[in-house]
Amino acid sequence: MSQYLFEPPAVVTVPVEGQDEIFPVRRILCVGRNYAAHRREMGGDDRDPPFFFAKPADAIVSPGRDVAYPPMTSNLHHEIELVVALKAGGKAVPVERALDLVFGYAVGVDLTRRDLQNAAKDKGQPWEASKGFDESAPISAIKPWSGPAPQGRIQLTVNGDVRQDASVADMIWATQEIIAEASKLWTLAAGDLIYTGTPEGVGPLRSGDRVEGQIDGVGKLAFKVA
Ligand code: MN
Repeated sequence: MSQYLFEPPAVVTVPVEGQDEIFPVRRILCVGRNYAAHRREMGGDDRDPPFFFAKPADAIVSPGRDVAYPPMTSNLHHEIELVVALKAGGKAVPVERALDLVFGYAVGVDLTRRDLQNAAKDKGQPWEASKGFDESAPISAIKPWSGPAPQGRIQLTVNGDVRQDASVADMIWATQEIIAEASKLWTLAAGDLIYTGTPEGVGPLRSGDRVEGQIDGVGKLAFKVA
C-alpha cells in the first residue's frame, strides 16, 4: 500500500450553529455580478448574466479569526455575500429540486484584491490572484435550513459605518437557480460552498478596520483586518 510523501493537508471545516458536528469543505464556487446595482458599480453591461469563479477551500477564515491584510495589493475590497452550504450534489440538477441539496446558509465575505482584478480584466487574464488568495473567504457558522432560501436584508459595516445594505431577494439568479446553473458546469457534491454574489457598496478596507456582516435569519460575522 502506498504511503503519503508527507502529511496530507487538513480538511477545512466550518462550524454549524447549534450542533457539535462540523461542516467539511470540499470546494468554494462564487457568483459574480449577481445584483444589478453592483453590476452597474463594476461597470458591467445590464444584459450580462452572472457567472462563476472559484476560491480554494483553504481560503476559508473560520468565525472569530482575524484576517491579515494580504500582500501585493493596496486596494483590498469587502463583498458581503449569502453562502450556500451543500449536503448533497449532482449534475444537471433541475431548479425545482435544487434546494433539496442545501444543508444550510452562512454569511460570507468575498475579499478581493480589486487592483489586481482590474488589471486582470484589462488584460483578459484569470482572476485567481485577485479572488482566490489566502484568507480571502471569511465565513460565519452555517445555519441549518430547510424550505425557501433566505430573502432578507444583507448588510455590512466597517468600524460601525454601513457600507453595504440590500436585500438577498434582489439577487439576479436566486439560490435555486445558482445551484442549477453550477450543476450544469460541474458535478456538485456535499461539502461544496457557493458564495452567491455581493450587492452594491463594495469598497476598500484598511489595516485595523473591524468588519461586521449580517443576513436576516442567517447569522452574523465579524473580523478585524490585522
Ligand atoms: Mn463576490
